[in-house]
Amino acid sequence: MTELPGWARELLRCPACHATLADADGSLACTGCARVYPVRDGVPVLLVDEAEPGPTGEV
Ligand SMILES: [Zn+2]
Repeated sequence: MTELPGWARELLRCPACHATLADADGSLACTGCARVYPVRDGVPVLLVDEAEPGPTGEV
């Protein structure tokens, strides 16, 4: 389980819409567009190409 310190989370923004990101079961979910970014080896992969569309499929 990856826990990001608060300061890191503050710095992390969705590259697509620049909203903040929320922890989502080992990945990071955008609070704006609902894309889900993977976290690999503790490193968030904030690439739009790597993101999965949110539950709504709204991209
Ligand atoms: Zn977003």
